[in-house]
Amino acid sequence: MIANYDKQELNPEILLKKLDTILDMEEDLIIILNKSGLITKVNANGALTLQFKEEDLLNRHIIDLIASKYKVEMMQAINDLITGKPERAFETSFYSYRGDEILFGINAKSLYEDDKITEIVLVGKNITHLREVTDEIENLRMKLIEANRIISIERQRANQRKSFLEELNKMKNDFVSNISHELRTPLASIIGFSETIDSDPDIPDAMRTEFNSTILNEGKRLARLINDILDISKLEGGGIDIAKVRFDIILMLNEVIEANVKSVQAKNIALSRELPEEEILIDADKERISQTIGRLLNNAVKFTNEKGRIKIILKNLFREIEIIISDTGIGIPETDLPYIFQKFYRVNRPGTEIPGTGLGLVFVKQIVDLHKGFITVQSGVGKGTTFAIKLPKSHI
Ligand code: ADP
Repeated sequence: MIANYDKQELNPEILLKKLDTILDMEEDLIIILNKSGLITKVNANGALTLQFKEEDLLNRHIIDLIASKYKVEMMQAINDLITGKPERAFETSFYSYRGDEILFGINAKSLYEDDKITEIVLVGKNITHLREVTDEIENLRMKLIEANRIISIERQRANQRKSFLEELNKMKNDFVSNISHELRTPLASIIGFSETIDSDPDIPDAMRTEFNSTILNEGKRLARLINDILDISKLEGGGIDIAKVRFDIILMLNEVIEANVKSVQAKNIALSRELPEEEILIDADKERISQTIGRLLNNAVKFTNEKGRIKIILKNLFREIEIIISDTGIGIPETDLPYIFQKFYRVNRPGTEIPGTGLGLVFVKQIVDLHKGFITVQSGVGKGTTFAIKLPKSHI
């Protein structure tokens, strides 16, 4: 290359002027340091970026211009270059004349003369704006991650809601099919027996009486079922008021037991009672409490096999009474226990056809709650079931 230059062009002064012109045209920051780190040259645009005049930067130590956080790294870089590392690339922040920090991406190289390092040249690209943009991108990336997280939580919630609604819908369908079955069975016997009586005028009196009694029983069963459904919907709509009166709970328990004696005897169940002799007064809705105990007793009979035992106990506690209805029946699996007070919930017992709607215990619990009472259940499969209701006693 040098061979193409004439002497005039190799004149150092001319060369320096050309170099100055090139440096001044350069947009980036160009600084030349001597081995001590003092600035011996800076290009015009570079000085302008730092808001200095060129002459104000000359002979200043480069470290004076570097932001505190980057001083050590800059010193290390200069040291590396002086001790023979050919080049270094790093980021550093310069203080401008007004004291702002301006971030540069620096490429630094040693300059040699006769194989000895004489100076160091730094070429710096102002990356402040680039850094702001990358910071903003990082910020947006974090926001995006957060937004994705929220979306996935919401999606999970929506799925949970969906499966809850599906479960609800399944319960509703099960209920509709249960209820239809429950309605159809007594209706079929009522229609069947009535048709038989109607079509045969010579039917023997004894048979007619038996058929009539079946029709009556099935009619009552239908009425009970319809009342159950009405009761639950009234309770749910807040439409049931409890009418409290003061009455003797012992007397009432005996009445309920008497009313169920027939069904107990029909299954050869031994029913015993442990009731205090004296009267115990409570303030409650007599009719509803009577229905509640009746339903629990009815379930005890329904879910206890022939020759089983049922016990009714009343405990006279300090401020409350506890009514316990215990049976030696088929029991409730532990996994079903948490759900038995839910509407339409019935324990699935394949192969057994015990009629029901899954509404009885809903009614029981709502009535107990309306009296500010408390109901608990203990059960084990094959071991029997114990329901216990606590109700406040009358205060006087
Ligand atoms: P159902 O009309 O089906 O009897 P309930 O609400 O009265 O509805 O009872 C809910 C479920 O709890 C029943 O399906 C039954 O499986 C179970 N259950 C209630 N009482 C007893 C009991 N004494 N022994 C065994 N299981 C019972």
